[in-house]
Amino acid sequence: MSDENQGGWTRVRSRLRAEVGDDVYSSWFARMDLEAIEEGTVRLSVPTRFLKSWIQNHYAERVLACWQAEDDKIGRIELTVRSAVLKSAVVIKPKLEIPVGSSDNSNRFNGNGNGRPMSVGDPGVHEALGGSPLDARLSFDSFVVGRSNTLAHAAAKQVAAARRTDPVMFNPLYIHAGVGLGKTHLLQAITWAGNAAGERKVLYLTAEKFMYGFVSALRTQTALAFKEALRGIGVLVIDDLQFLQGKSTQAEFCHTLNALIDAGRQVVIASDRPPSDLESLDDRVRSRLAGGLVVEMASLGEELRLEILKARVMAARAYHPTFDVPLPVLAYIAKTVTHNGRDLEGALNRLLAHNKLTGHAVTLEMAEREVRDLIRPQEPKRVKIEDIQRVVARQYNVSRSDLLSSRRTANVVRPRQVAMYLAKTLTLRSLPEIGRRFGGRDHTTVLHAVRKIEGLVGNDMALAEEIEILKRQLQE
Ligand code: ADP
Ligand code: MG
Repeated sequence: MSDENQGGWTRVRSRLRAEVGDDVYSSWFARMDLEAIEEGTVRLSVPTRFLKSWIQNHYAERVLACWQAEDDKIGRIELTVRSAVLKSAVVIKPKLEIPVGSSDNSNRFNGNGNGRPMSVGDPGVHEALGGSPLDARLSFDSFVVGRSNTLAHAAAKQVAAARRTDPVMFNPLYIHAGVGLGKTHLLQAITWAGNAAGERKVLYLTAEKFMYGFVSALRTQTALAFKEALRGIGVLVIDDLQFLQGKSTQAEFCHTLNALIDAGRQVVIASDRPPSDLESLDDRVRSRLAGGLVVEMASLGEELRLEILKARVMAARAYHPTFDVPLPVLAYIAKTVTHNGRDLEGALNRLLAHNKLTGHAVTLEMAEREVRDLIRPQEPKRVKIEDIQRVVARQYNVSRSDLLSSRRTANVVRPRQVAMYLAKTLTLRSLPEIGRRFGGRDHTTVLHAVRKIEGLVGNDMALAEEIEILKRQLQE
């Protein structure tokens, strides 16, 4: 390789780094080498097939343009995999994020310790990738289907049963619901069932584990090993996506998502809010997430709560054969403990504990005493900005697009301010997010609207009442 070529290559690299940013550069291009330049073709090499296809799919034109800016005779880029270099590319650094208590298996990050990139079949890979622990009880068998979760359950079943060769029906599958409504249960059920079928490797990660695994992997030499391993995954399941934070993590999340989806792998996501409300994600990711099947699970109805309780008692009896909860007690709990699945579980655990410790039979009286503090007023409904816009538009006889428009006539300005005010008071959305959802307005505009209405309701009884009515409509 001539010095001249190497000098050119160095300049191309800095140009590329400046264009894509340090994070992207170091995850995808740091190990790209110049092999040769011949007759207008630049030959570059990378250590893995995965990197090669990624760069080809996402950055081919970029790389070519950077070369052409340096040398206009270049017409083509050729990317090859240099297998010999693979070994050193995945050498493991010792300060890896081996989970606590597993130092006995310090080779787990590359599986077999022979320097080859790990394959998903290797033991320990689930953890090395930050695979989150699974709870054996959270299976399809123990999941009770009711009106609020029929669709989510059907989609989850479909994903778990799909074979490698089946076309992907919806990607990603995005399930959202409030706390304790069964998201994690369903996601882990997919993981268990999918892996038991043995057709496709299913990896379950919380968003935190994803960040932790990925970010640490990027900071060490193991980014390649990580990406290589990701390649072997048939279904990637990410729980609690709302916790995904940080610009570079999100860039990586975006890449991973695109790569998996483009490669026909299934992605399943759960979050406590719909994609449109994931404020910290950028628009492209949001729209990608919304592009699959988005399913909401509503709160558990009383009927479903009762069924869940019955199923739980049956399960408990496998270990505590004498544990018996009369139907009226179950009905009482189903009626009063309305919060979510977690509280139902808590209520039964108390009855069980009481029964075991005192030997007293479970009665309605005992239940009333034991679960008293779990009986909270109905959890306020999750109010969505779309609903606010719809209800306010209807109330004031304007259209939703009027609210989002830039029109400044009085008949639109006031309803718009009311809607922004309600968005601020009834949801946890930030001012910038609300502004974005109201036709891309600035957060100061939202703040102004909120203050304006706050000031008015003190004096204007009619407006105060209107707002109360709107709130009630939205929360019932
Ligand atoms: P989320 O992840 O949505 O916060 P989880 O999946 O952790 O909720 O569910 C909370 C509890 O409620 C778990 O013990 C779960 O097993 C139970 N649960 C929720 N929905 C159902 C259901 N449809 N059938 C059986 N158990 C359920
Ligand atoms: Mg959960």
